[in-house]
Amino acid sequence: MTKRSGKNDHPRPPRSGSSEVCSFCGHSGREVGPIVEGPDGVRICAGCIDLCQTIIRQERRQETAPALLTENVPTPSRIKDFLSQYVVGQEHAKRVLSVAVHNHYKRLNHIEAEDVDAEVELDKSNVLLIGPTGCGKTLLAKTLARVLDVPFAIGDATTLTEAGYVGEDVENILLKLLQSADYDIEAAQRGIIYIDEIDKIGKTSQNVSITRDVSGEGVQQALLKMLEGTLANVPPQGGRKHPEQQYIQIDTKQILFICGGTFTGLEDIVKKRLGRQLIGFGSEDQAEESAAEHARVMEMVQPDDLVEYGMIPEFVGRLPCITTLGPLDEDALVRILTEPKNALVRQYRRFFKMEGAELEFRPAALQVIARRAMKLDTGARALRNVIEDFMLELMYELPEANAEGQQYVITEKMITSGRKPTLRASLTRKKESA
Ligand code: ADP
Repeated sequence: MTKRSGKNDHPRPPRSGSSEVCSFCGHSGREVGPIVEGPDGVRICAGCIDLCQTIIRQERRQETAPALLTENVPTPSRIKDFLSQYVVGQEHAKRVLSVAVHNHYKRLNHIEAEDVDAEVELDKSNVLLIGPTGCGKTLLAKTLARVLDVPFAIGDATTLTEAGYVGEDVENILLKLLQSADYDIEAAQRGIIYIDEIDKIGKTSQNVSITRDVSGEGVQQALLKMLEGTLANVPPQGGRKHPEQQYIQIDTKQILFICGGTFTGLEDIVKKRLGRQLIGFGSEDQAEESAAEHARVMEMVQPDDLVEYGMIPEFVGRLPCITTLGPLDEDALVRILTEPKNALVRQYRRFFKMEGAELEFRPAALQVIARRAMKLDTGARALRNVIEDFMLELMYELPEANAEGQQYVITEKMITSGRKPTLRASLTRKKESA
């Protein structure tokens, strides 16, 4: 059965002489657009047709669909291998996530098998990823959903507000998940939600805005309920909830929540707890030393540090798996350019291949691109900006260039010269490029 609550409260407009009124929601054609008329004066608007379709699809699915995941939940090592096809480095985070996710879905199967006699109750393992911008937090969560073939949605904690304040209701994240599951409630209830910028709802955060609840605690409370497992009322059209609206009910008990945040300043809290003298590190290179020290300190984050940072203890308690991701260095950025299945360099090569041409990036050129991206301080996110800016002219010319059979090479010099390369400048003969 489709779970619904509340009633349809569209204010019934007066039917004064207008034949154009939807018999289902009571809205007029003026309000809802074209209306289809059936026998005996029954009419239906496009919105109600959509709603009917969703209900029917849902009913059919529930009649025919077997359980989403079979007993064959991928092992942690298989999950990690899959993650490595898309995510460079971050080995520790991959391990933690693989185990957490494996256990999560094993737990679901265990519930499904109605293993009620089991003496050990398995806890839900929501995950917290701590790491700088652009180091792969979202990518990890997204890739996980892909390996498990479950619906996935991303929410941003900064836009969330406590009910009654300007902004988004927490339930809208569930709506996104439902949409990504094509309105299949059962599938959505086993999906993964990634909530970004979770550190920004900390009580002591400087980003508190007066349009949100002042302490940020209300949002944490609302999110906490979802993380724990609640029967949430999701407004099918999104937006703010209002009384007596029609809702879709989603049970969040089995949804895996992965939260991510940069937690700027957390390092100092951990250091204070540990005492500075404990964290000596003997490297000659100062930048290297500070990066290594940062990584070492962040690996020692404890739930109490997060409470000190401003997260409420119950919230932290609902995120039993905490893992930190390190910043990416230049070599990691070069690998990101070339190694993942959808690496940017691979994508450009593919575009050239579509025209029957070949494109090569010299290793030194990739190094320069990575160095430039490093300067922007947004992790791997900057790579796309740098390379797109650089490749614009070539991609502009390519479709009309008669490039069939040609080979193009991007060299370090072409990037450092400051001039945007053209196809002509990057053209070489095949033999020369060997
Ligand atoms: P954040 O940590 O801020 O959530 P994202 O995961 O959204 O960062 O990363 C932004 C983009 O940078 C990704 O779409 C991906 O292309 C690239 N990227 C970041 N980290 C990695 C990584 N470790 N391996 C491969 N690509 C990465």
